[in-house]
Amino acid sequence: MSRVLLIGAGGVGGVVAHKISQAPETFSSLVLASRTKSKCDVIKAQILKRRPGYKMETAQVDADNVPMLVNLIKEVQPKLVINTALPYQDLTIMDACLETGVDYLDTANYEPPDTAKFEYKWQWAYQERFKAKGLMALLGCGFDPGVTNIFCAHAMKNHFDEIHNVDIIDCNAGNHGHPFATNFNPEINIREVTAKGKYWENGQWVETEPMAIHKPFNAPELGEMEIYLMYHEELESLSKNLKGLKRIRFWMSFSQNYLNHLKVLQNVGMTRIDPIEFQGQKIIPLQFLKALLPDPASLGPRTKGKTNIGCVIDGIKGGKPKKYYVYNVCDHEEAYKETDNQAISYTTGVPAFIGAMMMLQGKWKGAGVFNVEQLDPDPFMAELLVRGLPWIEDVEYET
Ligand code: NDP
Repeated sequence: MSRVLLIGAGGVGGVVAHKISQAPETFSSLVLASRTKSKCDVIKAQILKRRPGYKMETAQVDADNVPMLVNLIKEVQPKLVINTALPYQDLTIMDACLETGVDYLDTANYEPPDTAKFEYKWQWAYQERFKAKGLMALLGCGFDPGVTNIFCAHAMKNHFDEIHNVDIIDCNAGNHGHPFATNFNPEINIREVTAKGKYWENGQWVETEPMAIHKPFNAPELGEMEIYLMYHEELESLSKNLKGLKRIRFWMSFSQNYLNHLKVLQNVGMTRIDPIEFQGQKIIPLQFLKALLPDPASLGPRTKGKTNIGCVIDGIKGGKPKKYYVYNVCDHEEAYKETDNQAISYTTGVPAFIGAMMMLQGKWKGAGVFNVEQLDPDPFMAELLVRGLPWIEDVEYET
């Protein structure tokens, strides 16, 4: 039985909080803290409606401020801090965990606010400090990164002697009825999709223009989707941790409507992340755009359709070539019914909750900084089946 501190009361944090409240045998009590306390209180009220009497508190914290975080952690005395704030807060929360001697988990790697560049180097640099203190930091435990890494570890352990090629494919056929909106934090989402594409082949990174490479893909339960090659952070850790790998790529589906809107916004400079002067004030166009777009949390009740995220993997088993596909399909409306959030937040929050469970139950333990594929995939894959994200595998996949 463990007390947990969850930081960040957005869509993902909301799902993690709901799922934690469903597992009191592992999570004895929860403190949810965020920049805006009223958002924590809304989530608490939703949870208490479903599970009256659940032990949950809320707090205000600025997670950019290490002394403030340290005070909160000392007051709460959690066994684990789960970070579902933004990638900008990863390092400050890791610093506070080191100072207070508490384990750490997040779902997205650190990004400096002034450059749209996600790399693990900043967080991997904490390896020796976490090791020296006997603490564990688990990085990227959402769906992608997260479950997609664990799918690869599961394939390596159970289906292949060597893995040669991996294509991670993230499709969303959800429809929220708005002309343009992003399914998770608009600033993070737009920074990601306007960046150059990149994949790893034969030990080298190959860079592409944004959205330049695309193809149709037949996603089970969704139908034909157009998928676009992008850079995504799990490529960095998987290209290091999957032995024998020759190529790894990441693809995401987009509708033509989404891409048309994005193109226009880019053309007029609304996706810029450098400060500009506006009526005597410095503003960052992308942050201004975020203020105009629908809050991802408001999409929950109106989103219909499904997501399908999975990995197509080929390699060698018993001396013979083999192709394998493992995926999850998640229904936006079902996710909303259970957690007041649509499938994008659900598919991220459930793995963060399971990762926390693995750490608190001692099924995943170690001192240092870990990417999820470095840990035993079996107990995590078993929990996925019963915690809302069942997976399906096709061991003789044909494209
Ligand atoms: P939201 O923007 O909905 O939520 C972020 C929350 O963090 C907000 O409540 C925000 O507060 C809070 N926050 C921001 N800055 C601070 C701060 N300085 N101090 C305290 N709280 C702060 O984002 P999402 O829930 O959609 O995403 C959460 C995380 O999950 C992100 O890091 C995102 O990159 C990651 N993610 C990972 C995925 C995966 O599969 N691995 C997929 C999707 C998302 P306020 O309400 O005041 O703005």
